[in-house]
Amino acid sequence: MEATRLPSAKPVHDLKPRKEVSLDEDPTKASDALPLPLHLTNAVFFTLFFSVVYFLLSRWREKIRTSTPLHVVTFSEIVAIIAFFASFIYLLGFFGIDFVQSLVFRPTPDVWISEDEEEENEVLLRKEDARKVPCGQALDCALPLLPPQAPIVAAQKVFDEKPVTVLTEEDEEIIKSVVAGTTPSYSLESKLGDCKRAAAIRREALQRLTGKSLSGLPLEGFDYESILGQCCEMPVGYVQIPVGIAGPLLLNGKEFSVPMATTEGCLVASTNRGCKAIHLSGGATSVLLKDGMTRAPVVRFGTAKRAADLKLYLEDPNNFETISIVFNRSSRFGRLQGIKCAIAGKNLYMRFTCSTGDAMGMNMVSKGVQNVLDFLQTDFPDMDVLGISGNFCSDKKPAAVNWIEGRGKSVVCEAIIKGDVVRKVLKTSVESLVELNMLKNLTGSAMAGALGGFNAHASNIVSAVFIATGQDPAQNVESSHCITMMEAVNDGNDLHVSVTMPSIEVGTVGGGTQLASQSACLNLLGVKGASKEVPGANSRTLATVVAGAVLAAELSLMSAIAAGQLVKSHMKYNRSSKDVSKA
Ligand code: ADP
Repeated sequence: MEATRLPSAKPVHDLKPRKEVSLDEDPTKASDALPLPLHLTNAVFFTLFFSVVYFLLSRWREKIRTSTPLHVVTFSEIVAIIAFFASFIYLLGFFGIDFVQSLVFRPTPDVWISEDEEEENEVLLRKEDARKVPCGQALDCALPLLPPQAPIVAAQKVFDEKPVTVLTEEDEEIIKSVVAGTTPSYSLESKLGDCKRAAAIRREALQRLTGKSLSGLPLEGFDYESILGQCCEMPVGYVQIPVGIAGPLLLNGKEFSVPMATTEGCLVASTNRGCKAIHLSGGATSVLLKDGMTRAPVVRFGTAKRAADLKLYLEDPNNFETISIVFNRSSRFGRLQGIKCAIAGKNLYMRFTCSTGDAMGMNMVSKGVQNVLDFLQTDFPDMDVLGISGNFCSDKKPAAVNWIEGRGKSVVCEAIIKGDVVRKVLKTSVESLVELNMLKNLTGSAMAGALGGFNAHASNIVSAVFIATGQDPAQNVESSHCITMMEAVNDGNDLHVSVTMPSIEVGTVGGGTQLASQSACLNLLGVKGASKEVPGANSRTLATVVAGAVLAAELSLMSAIAAGQLVKSHMKYNRSSKDVSKA
């Protein structure tokens, strides 16, 4: 964990002087009873101990020489014996008990998981530190919190060369209050007005409550303000996922370096190989077939007849203009494209589709749908709105409606890979690839009863690019729908390969796309934010890049399987040579 001084809520000059309570300070004094510097008291007792030992031994030798009984002691010898026991007890108490405790109470690895001794020491120090912090009153959260002046150092694992997280005296009070349940953890941001400090306090409270270390989960180096009210609640840090680059992917005459956030070894390397094969063959072409986000509320009527009345009303082309005017009021970018209805008895599911500019569009379409529902209530007062989403949309669930009708961006991407490239780069043959594709991606998936899963590993690439570019990773479910086709062309010499993906749900504004890392990845692709020329152009380009990367990865994985290399390459890239049992 890194360390920093938490920002003050007030300028420093506003603060009244405060006694510093540093955890480093405590051990410098021996005790309250003996308020001397530690090194001085240690030196005194060491000297005393060895002096009296020397004195008593010399007296003992003298008595043996002069045949004096040992039990006959002088006053100076009595003083020396008392001094001996006093200094012995001091030294035992100071060094001996700690030593014994360190042997007996060494934490077990499953309590505070630590990678090495140094980290273990840090953890122990932090536990020890927590005890040494002075007790305070429960926090009155109604009062404005005074900004910190005296830092309390909580030792945590070092990241980015920042040694420790600094928590203040006030922070310590808040931590105690969160641990005691007096202050709700979720309220820290609003109460403190400082998202980073809130995260640090929540994190420390969590560690104390659970007895589990978060060492390894970084806190520093993240803008917690940027996620407030938009991306994540109650943060305690962030997970690091490496980003690899595949490419250049030559797509529609342009080169793209594709960022992929993944922890699966082989994936980026494999996609990169596919990109190379595509590049050497003149590039891939991608076409956007459809662009419309959907939302399907469910409403109930007293009779199936009334549900059918509304269905007919909504599907009547003469009513479309009125409905779209109402729908489009929600946003400059949301434009109604169509409504598809399905009836189940008295219940009606209305699947609204609309364009959403560069946004993925869930919020936008939901607002438009709400407008229409309010409007319909006038002509259909007996309509009972059960839910703005009735799962006919269908969001984040495998569903045939997305596979057949499309959702978000529907894209087809193709390339003709030269026979030479198939042999030299992909190390297989056109014939083997075509046969494997038919038996695996088509027949095999049909045998498995697949729904949109007629591919080798589209979801691998979709997830990796989604995470890197700030998309909603849960939408990987439908965004990974893909059918991969392979065919021998040019008299069987070359390979025609295509991926058809009907429901790629991506955006370049909103959600996680505005976060610094994700935004950098979008920038790398040249699709950051809203398109200035044509609204929606950036998100559409991103969808074609996703499909292009899937094409590359399908080519490469299928080739590896056809050539029998899959296990070998995974052993090389996906299995660390480290002995994991020691980790
Ligand atoms: P989503 O609908 O994907 O959840 P949001 O509604 O949260 O996304 O974000 C879209 C917001 O961005 C809207 O307020 C919209 O007005 C704004 N915006 C700005 N430029 C664009 C653009 N080019 N395309 C779409 N939305 C845009």
